[in-house]
Amino acid sequence: MDITPSLQDYCMREAEVNPQRGKVTEVLIDQVDNLALVLAAVRTGGLRTRPELVRELGLGRNVISQRVGQLLEVGLLDEGRLAPSTGGRPSRELRFRSEAGCLLVAELGATDLQVGLSDLSGELLDQRVERCDVAAGPEPTLGRLEQLFDELLAGRPAGVPLWGVGLGVPGPVEFSQGRPIAPPIMPGWDAYPVRDRLSARYQAPAWIDNDVNVMALGELRAGIGRSELELMYVKVGSGIGAGLISGGRLHRGAQGTAGDIGHVSVTDDESILCRCGNTGCLEAIAGGYALARDGLAAAESGRSKALAAVLKQSGAVTARDVTAAAGAGDRTSLALLTSSGRLVGRVLATLVNFYNPSVIVMGGQVSSGEDMFLTELRRTVYGRSTALAARDLRIKTSPLGDRAGLLGAAFLVVDQLFERDCLARWIQSGSPTGHPELSSVAAA
Ligand SMILES: [Zn+2]
Repeated sequence: MDITPSLQDYCMREAEVNPQRGKVTEVLIDQVDNLALVLAAVRTGGLRTRPELVRELGLGRNVISQRVGQLLEVGLLDEGRLAPSTGGRPSRELRFRSEAGCLLVAELGATDLQVGLSDLSGELLDQRVERCDVAAGPEPTLGRLEQLFDELLAGRPAGVPLWGVGLGVPGPVEFSQGRPIAPPIMPGWDAYPVRDRLSARYQAPAWIDNDVNVMALGELRAGIGRSELELMYVKVGSGIGAGLISGGRLHRGAQGTAGDIGHVSVTDDESILCRCGNTGCLEAIAGGYALARDGLAAAESGRSKALAAVLKQSGAVTARDVTAAAGAGDRTSLALLTSSGRLVGRVLATLVNFYNPSVIVMGGQVSSGEDMFLTELRRTVYGRSTALAARDLRIKTSPLGDRAGLLGAAFLVVDQLFERDCLARWIQSGSPTGHPELSSVAAA
């Protein structure tokens, strides 16, 4: 097994191999906490000047001045115009240089693939979306992903180095190893070394994570959650999953599977088979896949005239057809959708009692459909959560929508690059380009 040395061990090893560099690295170990702190304060904390940093971070003026100097030197920060004077000597505004590097980001769904080139603030410079069947296995899927990545890289702004690669996949991911483990809808991907393949090909650090975790990160940094510390992102698409933000950080759990609520058991009925191989799972009864299955049955039996018409015309019934028919007043579809909202709501109420989030962000195609689903879900969550947990709880739909995945993939990479243990390993060379081994320095 690949074991990443602690920062201390890393420095000692560096000192043996290269005494001069090792000494520098030992000094760095004392500085890196404050470097990471100052960088985060400017990058995401909204602080702009040295006096602000001194005041807000509680560090001495000399320390701030030195750390800012280092960050200016390696090109992570630059100085702009004079900030409005607050009485003392005017100081220059600091800015995070999001153009210092670029990132390749992607979100792999069950049936489509989104890829993008972004700067270090998550801003997309270019992107592509196309149909893609994840069940075809890793070779064709990643082969196509790499072709699209190569196209995006060829069109990137001249001279901007690639700093990292980020990818969300629709299944459980062992985050420390960067590989999916027994993913129910991704046959052939079990333990496939996705991260290592991408980091080796692009000679840059790469991170992969479960798609819903990645979307939760997108919402936290760029969507509804910018000022939230306790957030739960819930995706109800073909399957169902959740990403948990606790204390302003993504909570992955011991192996990286925290939030995989789609396979919570909600009934003893053994006739309802889930794609994971188990029976009675939430997503097997209430997800988009289940809505499509039950919608088809209603069309075939004639219980729903609206869906029967859809089936006759298109030869299939999708979850989208069920939400559309419900919106048009079809009673069978409406019953399917409200039942789904109620079941998901019950599981969320349990999570609200257990975890007490301030906001639940609902994403995914079923959540973005007709209001009946959300109305029933809200009614159930507020009705079944404890009074205090429900008092200030907000349940909102995702403002980022389809963009949450690519934005989140960018923040997945940037957050890792600027974690202290990772930062310490590349800050002296000024760029993580050419350091694929940084991928294994993953902070959970
Ligand atoms: Zn299941």
